[in-house]
Amino acid sequence: MKRIVIAIDGPAGAGKSTISKIIAKRINIEYIDTGAMYRAIALKALNNGIDFEDIDGIEKLLKDTDINFNNGKIYLDGIDVSGKIRTPEMSSLASSISAIKVVREKLVYLQRLMAAKKSLVMDGRDIGTNVLKDAKYKIYLTATVEERASRRYNELCKKNIDVTFENICKDIITRDKNDMERKINPLYKAEDAILVDTTGKSIEEVVNEILNIVMKDGE
Ligand code: C5P
Repeated sequence: MKRIVIAIDGPAGAGKSTISKIIAKRINIEYIDTGAMYRAIALKALNNGIDFEDIDGIEKLLKDTDINFNNGKIYLDGIDVSGKIRTPEMSSLASSISAIKVVREKLVYLQRLMAAKKSLVMDGRDIGTNVLKDAKYKIYLTATVEERASRRYNELCKKNIDVTFENICKDIITRDKNDMERKINPLYKAEDAILVDTTGKSIEEVVNEILNIVMKDGE
């Protein structure tokens, strides 16, 4: 079988991980959630009391950090942290830590290693523009702020996490700004990426739209 590499980028709450997971399952390829990796590093720094201004401290922390995915779960130094990284606090800390050069260097290195020679779908903010520039399929997934916030809000409410819609909106706007304006690997649509606006579309519609792009090529 030919190697299939799908890079999916876009702002917070655009549906990247939901859509990527389904696509991976449908065509039986691996899924790598790079946002979860930034969240895991932020969690480790938090647990170790390391200030994000302390670049030496962060660098030391990164040196003996191991991140792995297995069966849809993320393992930080061998421990499953999949649940712990999905809080609004971790979203905001991940957004801050992801602007640090040494953090991006280490995670981009790991992401490229994980992707080597495999068929996969990888989602994040800089996959099509930086991590997997040569990916054959690049998708830029987006939706209005209101729709993205309302999806996040419903998702967190289902997990019984206490949030307000207003705060989620603010968080999304701040994260978009951080991600799009940071100096290193900011979020933008790669020239050769296909824009998919998910506003008002069902998950199934978006999955099919992307699979049609991949299948059109006879994959
Ligand atoms: O995708 P998710 O919301 O889980 O990502 C958490 C944070 O990690 C984002 O707000 C973004 O700042 C950062 N991130 C990044 N580059 C990626 C993936 C995520 O900077 N490739």
